[in-house]
Amino acid sequence: MKIAVLSRNPRLYSTQRLVEAGQQRGHEMVVIDTLRAYMNIASHKPQIHYRGAPLEGFDAVIPRIGASITFYGCAVLRQFEMMGVFPLNESVAISRSRDKLRSLQLLSRKGIGLPITGFAHSPDDIPDLIQMVGGAPLVIKVLEGTQGIGVVLCETQKAAESVIEAFMGLKQDIMVQEYIGEAGGADIRCFVVGDKVIAAMKRQAAPGEFRSNLHRGGTASLIKITPEERSTAIRAAKAMGLSVAGVDILRSNHGPLVMEVNSSPGLEGIEETTGRDIAGIIIQYLEKNAEHGLTRTRGR
Ligand code: ADP
Ligand code: GLU
Repeated sequence: MKIAVLSRNPRLYSTQRLVEAGQQRGHEMVVIDTLRAYMNIASHKPQIHYRGAPLEGFDAVIPRIGASITFYGCAVLRQFEMMGVFPLNESVAISRSRDKLRSLQLLSRKGIGLPITGFAHSPDDIPDLIQMVGGAPLVIKVLEGTQGIGVVLCETQKAAESVIEAFMGLKQDIMVQEYIGEAGGADIRCFVVGDKVIAAMKRQAAPGEFRSNLHRGGTASLIKITPEERSTAIRAAKAMGLSVAGVDILRSNHGPLVMEVNSSPGLEGIEETTGRDIAGIIIQYLEKNAEHGLTRTRGR
């Protein structure tokens, strides 16, 4: 097969591993810098040009679209879809997953366990918003945050009120969420490919910290997940329409709760922790499933 990898940087671990795994299995791998591709969208023969020439003959495309270029990245991916090239994850599913409110609404509609969560921009009754999600302690999150930045634990009602007021002053959309203390500062990353969890790791926050992000000093280790966690992760990826997803789960007293579904999950931490050839499994998934013209939504 001829496989495109949409990535801004060929030297990134995940990009390198996908290229390497594809080549090992005899495929032609081409890394395309997403922002440098340009497109003719009005022609009856949709085209993408790159470095002065049209991209042609691709069987599949692996999107590795960073959060900061979601809009343009999804347009390029959608153009591949218009050309009939099979996407590892579809553009519609990626845009969906980048909108936290939309994601949680879709997951909730499918009955997937979620922390009790409120959304607000300028709530006219802050105490009522706090009561709505069960009162303090609670976690407040800025919608556009990543790597744990903009995630605050408020232990008391008063602290929660002031933090919400502060974010209101900054005109930020926020999420107000039940604090799952029993998770003990840990979360579980389930790596889903197709309809299977192919690897899982536990991330534990540094002492005195509740955020388990590796960027916040968290550490990763191997974990055995329960059948309920496994099925939750698979259902969450499916609800989002993602073939490949990193599903982040909190272990609560009332079962697994999905925190986030990531459409471009990194390979480095999970391959190092589990010793599994995740990139190879992704390429095998394409070998089995990549058929010309087979996108479910076609960008609708
Ligand atoms: P980001 O997308 O910036 O990583 P998250 O929403 O994943 O933000 O939160 C960062 C970390 O904070 C999580 O990995 C988890 O360890 C912890 N955390 C987030 N929400 C909750 C919650 N409702 N209860 C307990 N811990 C939480
Ligand atoms: N199928 C529609 C879409 O993908 C609605 C589902 C959703 O909100 O993701 O845009």
